[in-house]
Amino acid sequence: MRRKSFAVIGAGRFGSSLAVTLSEMGHDVLVMDIDEKKIQGLADKVTHALQADSTNEHNIKTLGIANFDVVIVAIGVEMQASILTSLMLKELGAKYILAKARTEQHGKVLERIGVDRVVFPERDMGARLARQLTDTHVLDCIDLSPDYSVEELMAPDFMAGKSLQELNLRSRYGINLIAIRSGDRINISPLAGDVIEKNDLLIVVGKNKDLDRLLQ
Ligand code: ATP
Repeated sequence: MRRKSFAVIGAGRFGSSLAVTLSEMGHDVLVMDIDEKKIQGLADKVTHALQADSTNEHNIKTLGIANFDVVIVAIGVEMQASILTSLMLKELGAKYILAKARTEQHGKVLERIGVDRVVFPERDMGARLARQLTDTHVLDCIDLSPDYSVEELMAPDFMAGKSLQELNLRSRYGINLIAIRSGDRINISPLAGDVIEKNDLLIVVGKNKDLDRLLQ
């Protein structure tokens, strides 16, 4: 894994969890927060923790923002601060900006500014949990966007004993099968002739509504 550099602006629950995890994974992580206490709590957990107001242009300029691989704006409630910070980051040539939004309007403004990826952690986590809780077949799920996911699921009964050619998941459901796990074995390039067995785990990618249809 290539070591990357991240700047996380805003060390609330989302920002600090992201920053600490990235740091534990061996990446360089700088955290900026206006709140001295938050910064003190993170000082020995990340590469660099800085107490500063990100809406002050001077503070952002001194970071050398264009050198970071990814900049994360993790300010939610203070919408004005989130927008102003993202705008300055964009102007200063940040390579890739990911920003957290609390509401649809907040997200829309961030997209207009040119933020590369907008995430809605509370909304997306709620939706993901709802899918996992209501469908006992779904073991894990990664949201690729509000509409698309990668899911790990137990092969539904109707698939058992059928080949991929017979199942024809791509044209019948619009779903791509990435891998099949059978006990300890994992098949990462499934072919048309491969047969799904009872209790196989499938890793699939597709539209959420098509994935739901598959399990109905
Ligand atoms: P979370 O849900 O992740 O806890 P939140 O959505 O409630 O966060 P906020 O409370 O607005 O979001 O902000 C998250 C963090 O951003 C806080 O630690 C706050 O101190 C910090 N923050 C807010 N405004 C600024 C700013 N202008 N400069 C730097 N940090 C800021």
